[in-house]
Order: sequence, then structure tokens, then C-alpha cells
Amino acid sequence: MTTDSPLRIDHWIGNAPVASAARDEVRDPGRLADVVGLVARGGTYEVDLAVRAAAEAFKTWRETPVETRAALLRQAADLLEAEAPAVVGLMARESGMLVGTNTAEIGMAANIVRDNAEAGAAFLAPEAYEDAESWVGVEKRPIGVIAAIVPWNAPIILAMRKVSPALVCGNTVVVKPAPTAPIGLSRLLEKMAALFPPGVINVVHGGAEVGRALATHPLVGKVSFTGGGTVARAIMKDAAEGLKGVQFELGGNDPAIILEDADLDLAIPRIVGGAFRRSGQFCFAVKRVYAPSSLYDEAVARIRAEVDKFRVGHPLEPGVTFGPINNAGQYRALQGLLARTRASGATVEELGSWVSEKSEADGYYMRPVLVSDIDPEAELVQVEQFGPLLPVVRYDDLDAVIDSINAGELGLGSSIWTRDTDRAVEVARALETGMTFVNNAGTSRLGQKNIPFGGVKQSGIGRESSPIGLREYIDYHAINYHR
Ligand code: NAD
Repeated sequence: MTTDSPLRIDHWIGNAPVASAARDEVRDPGRLADVVGLVARGGTYEVDLAVRAAAEAFKTWRETPVETRAALLRQAADLLEAEAPAVVGLMARESGMLVGTNTAEIGMAANIVRDNAEAGAAFLAPEAYEDAESWVGVEKRPIGVIAAIVPWNAPIILAMRKVSPALVCGNTVVVKPAPTAPIGLSRLLEKMAALFPPGVINVVHGGAEVGRALATHPLVGKVSFTGGGTVARAIMKDAAEGLKGVQFELGGNDPAIILEDADLDLAIPRIVGGAFRRSGQFCFAVKRVYAPSSLYDEAVARIRAEVDKFRVGHPLEPGVTFGPINNAGQYRALQGLLARTRASGATVEELGSWVSEKSEADGYYMRPVLVSDIDPEAELVQVEQFGPLLPVVRYDDLDAVIDSINAGELGLGSSIWTRDTDRAVEVARALETGMTFVNNAGTSRLGQKNIPFGGVKQSGIGRESSPIGLREYIDYHAINYHR
């Protein structure tokens, strides 16, 4: 147990700390007795202060040349990498994520910032058209103050996917971190903000009240949100009052579809990695596997052997490869889903081994769970679990699998496992998801740069990353000169 006294984290407004009388404890989800930080709890007053600072900064930031904005973002990317060693342990304590995962996350976030810096100037170039009668210029202009509301599961990447495109396009931002993982993110944002003029990057801490105050503030131009569908609906209603734009990255129930010619040596470790990274707590994790009858028993046996390698414990314990669930609400929801799945008659196996055994009093620990012989219509197959429970469904009819997937409300990602590229493309095109990965359960570096990340149907509105993601942070101004 660490004996460090809790860190005191304030809001960050106009490049200065701002305290609030009320503070929220952030506890280590793997050592519940450990208070990692005491974080200022904002409300409408702090939101108004931050939004006004951002609106003031917008007046000059929007006029700053895009090359200067991009150069500052490149410095910010370098700074993120330089600061990583100072925050990855803290992030492990507040979020339950492994130190190596946090290090990789910050590296990826730095690349996202660089990609947006690089894409900015070409994206913002005006378009012009002319004929004998007139001349038309279509200019892209920033929206204004962007509210960036982020969740706890990958806070640095998810914040940088909003902050860096917003800034390169000339907007200013107010970031609201999640109450159960605000510390690493605010540490990095404060350092980053100091590179920019005061008010360009602001941070207000708190829960739903702060989110609502942002979505309803008249000077906020757009709300960019990553999180769950229930909160997204509330934000949409709040934003409707001021007819503000919204951009949403929401949940997924991503299927991994194994075809009969799949290379299981390659597929199984990648599927298991894609399902259980961050203890299953990420939006485009593999949430369900479909295996053909001809391969079913072998696929389940190999998944079992792979999952059983996980070593469960606190992320700061040596040898741990599988950390706890981030928060009490998520933990209870997963326990309920596990109990109902057991009761349904499916085969449920808790796998992995403890580095040192934990109880509920220690933290929100769960071992990774494999569920086989499960009904394709079972709750665990049809809902997003957002945790370490992986159902493997047997199938004989691929068309029926595709129909069942497409009948769902979510459509974030999907993956197809086959040696046949043409077949993979054919199946991919039949799936109603925003992204499909072939023979992997995640993006390549090329993909991170070029894939418009996001989903269809109730998995989101709009896209992040890639030059397409920049479109979320501009408006158009058309000027028509008549000769
Ligand atoms: P959540 O929706 O509960 O919370 C996300 C953020 O919204 C937090 O900062 C929270 O404080 C804030 N919030 C809560 N109520 C609000 C309100 N009324 N108005 C404004 N803001 C409010 O999500 P979570 O539990 O933190 O994350 C889990 C969900 O997020 C899962 O469904 C997951 O799939 C999804 N997710 C999606 C992506 C993606 O990119 N598609 C990435 C990560 C997580």
C-alpha cells in the first residue's frame, strides 16, 4: 500500500489553478483504502469561468496562423511523451490500468496530436470556384469553444482525439475528465496548456452537473463526448436547447467472426488481446466471438489456454497482466451480468491466476471469464458488457450471424478472421459497423492515422481521427463575389 498523501487537483482555467470548496476523492480501484487524489468538484460557476476564458482566448487563437497552431501541437506531443514516466504510475492507481498500457496510451495520444498537427493546414485550405459571372470562396472556420467530455477508460487518447483537432482548427477547449480517472489527464493537460496562450485549454472537474453546465452554456459551440449511450442522450437533449452540434463516440458490441479457413495460431492470441486488454474496458474491444461449428471446440480450447495465462492483481504488483475494474458501478453491473449468464446454463469459466489473491474489500477485482455453449440471443451476446466476460458463439450459417449482428443497435467495430482477402472484404461490406479489422482486433499505425474512428447507429455521431475527424471542428463560410 502506498503511503503517499493524496494529491490535490484543482481546475485549470486561463493557465492558472482554480480551487473549489468541495472535493471528490479518487480511490485506487485495486486498493480501495488508498485515496490517490482529492479533486476539486466544479459546478456552474467554474464552468462559466472556464467557458468565458476559452471564449476570450478564441478571439486571438482563431487568428493565429494554422502553422503556428500546428507547431505548438507538435511541441505538446513531445511534452506528452516526456511527461509519460511521471504519470503512468499515477494513472495505474486511479484507473486500474496496467503501467505498460498507460505508457502505450500516451505514446499513441502523442501520435494523434502529431497527426492532427500535420493534417491541419491542408484541411483548412479554402476552396475557390469561378466563372465569367462570379467567384466563390468556401472557407473553413473554427466553431468557437468546444466542450470535451471524456470517460475513464483511456482518458489521454480520448481527450487528445478531441483537443488536438479542435485546436489545430482554431477552436479553444474546456475539458471535463471523468471523476474516476481525472488525475493523470489533468496533470498532462496543465503542462500542455502552459505551451498555449491562457484560455486555449481549460479543465473543469466534476460529474454530471459539470457536463450539463457545459452542454447548456450559451458560449459553448459544440459538445464532443465519448462515453455511454444514456449520457449521450442526456447531452443531446441539453444541447438541443441551444441547437448546438454534438459529436459522440459511444459503445460497441464488436463481433470477431472466425471463418472456416482462419489461421487460429494467428487469430486466437490477437482475439484474446483484443477482448481482454484494459480488462475488457474499451469501446472497440472484441465483445463476442463467432466460431463455425467445424472449428468451435478447437477455438474454445485455444481461447481458454490463452486467457488462462493472465495474471490478475494490482497494476503496480510485479508480474500482473490483468488489473481490476475501474469503478463500483461497472463492477456491480458486471457481477450481475455474470450471475445471469451462469443461471442461463451457458458454460462459464473463470480463468487466469492471482499474483496475490484479493477480496472484494481490496478492490474491484474479477478474473477473466470465458463463456461457451451460449445461446446467440443471450444477454451477454446482445449487450455491451464493457468488461472481462467473453462469449464464444457457435454458428453454422454465416448469413444468419451477419443478420443477427446487423439487427443490433450498436455498430462500432468488427473483425473478420480468414486467409481469404476477397471473402474478408465481402463479409466486411455486409456488416453495419463503422470499422472492420481483418486478421486483427485493432488499428495499425497506418490505421490510427487514416481511419475515421467511430461507429454507426447508436455507436456514435460523427468520427474522430484522420482528416475526416477534423470536419467535426469547423464550420463553413461561403463568400460569393459577383463581377
Ligand atoms: P459515461 O457515459 O458514464 O461517462 C462519460 C463522461 O460523461 C464522464 O466524464 C461523466 O462524468 C460525464 N457525464 C455523466 N453524466 C453526464 C451528463 N448528464 N451530461 C454530461 N456529461 C455527463 O461513460 P463511462 O462509464 O465513463 O464509459 C463507458 C462507456 O463509454 C461505454 O459504453 C463505452 O463503450 C463508451 N466508450 C466509447 C468509446 C468510443 O470511442 N467509442 C471510448 C471509450 C468508451
